[in-house]
Amino acid sequence: MNFSLTPDQQAIRESVVNLCEKFPDAYWLEMDAGDDYPLEFHKTFADAGWLGIAMPERYGGSGLGLTEASLLVQAVTECSPGGIGASAIHLNIFGLNPVLVFGNEEQKQRMIPPMIAGRERACFAVTEPNTGLNTLKLKTRAVRKGDRYVVHGEKVWISSAQVADRMLLIARTQDASEVRNPTHGLSLFYTKLDRRHVTLRRTPSSAGSRSTPTRCSSTAWRFRSRTASARKAAASSTSFTA
Ligand SMILES: Cc1cc2nc3c(=O)[nH]c(=O)nc-3n(C[C@H](O)[C@H](O)[C@H](O)COP(=O)(O)OP(=O)(O)OC[C@H]3O[C@@H](n4cnc5c(N)ncnc54)[C@H](O)[C@@H]3O)c2cc1C
Repeated sequence: MNFSLTPDQQAIRESVVNLCEKFPDAYWLEMDAGDDYPLEFHKTFADAGWLGIAMPERYGGSGLGLTEASLLVQAVTECSPGGIGASAIHLNIFGLNPVLVFGNEEQKQRMIPPMIAGRERACFAVTEPNTGLNTLKLKTRAVRKGDRYVVHGEKVWISSAQVADRMLLIARTQDASEVRNPTHGLSLFYTKLDRRHVTLRRTPSSAGSRSTPTRCSSTAWRFRSRTASARKAAASSTSFTA
């Protein structure tokens, strides 16, 4: 098997490295020392079109594959201390794949282009104070109330939550005891991160990663849902709702 990069893949690596060189160590040190999110770095990658590398062209992406996206993130990781540059952009690159797979056309048109263009930033909320790798035990609960879901729960280690406009959130819509298989009854929501209903707290983090990761969100939040257009994935019963 030949694992060498194609000329196009090599060109991607070189372009990304060139872009990263605009952000020397001093930039990252400043971000880390000030607890600042690397907004300029994120904007530079959005403006150059890299955030949509793995998304179809009809939503503003480049239509390339996960291999090319991985090469991009690998190059960014090599160029930024502790890979913190990758942490600032990887959700924009990979995070909305569930929308692409399970969302309807209206959801794709509404959600994907703003992420690719860098107009919106999102975070991904899985981990909970008592639920790390054992995701099936997560306690955050989403309960249908009319045309809305009300979500109660607590998440920790949510990278970039402090600057996120949106949150891709996993919650239980059915208790594990009510379902045949504990992988059932888990749903994904993509929602505005509305600070009126969510409390964010800083999670102590180590030097080198202070600028992007680790905020804690808690309490309850509320958002509109359009469940009529939500789609179920037959294999896992995981639904995607927004
Ligand atoms: C910098 C940083 C950024 C992060 N960003 C995010 C984010 O954006 N969103 C998010 O949702 N989470 C995020 N996380 C959380 C991360 O995904 C979790 O730390 C990870 O899921 C592990 O969970 P845990 O730390 O609770 O470990 P645990 O689940 O408690 O595991 C601890 C150790 O026990 C081992 N272990 C666990 N279960 C078993 C088993 N059954 N058998 C044998 N060994 C086992 C594990 O391999 C591990 O070594 C982030 C974490 C860090 C450090």
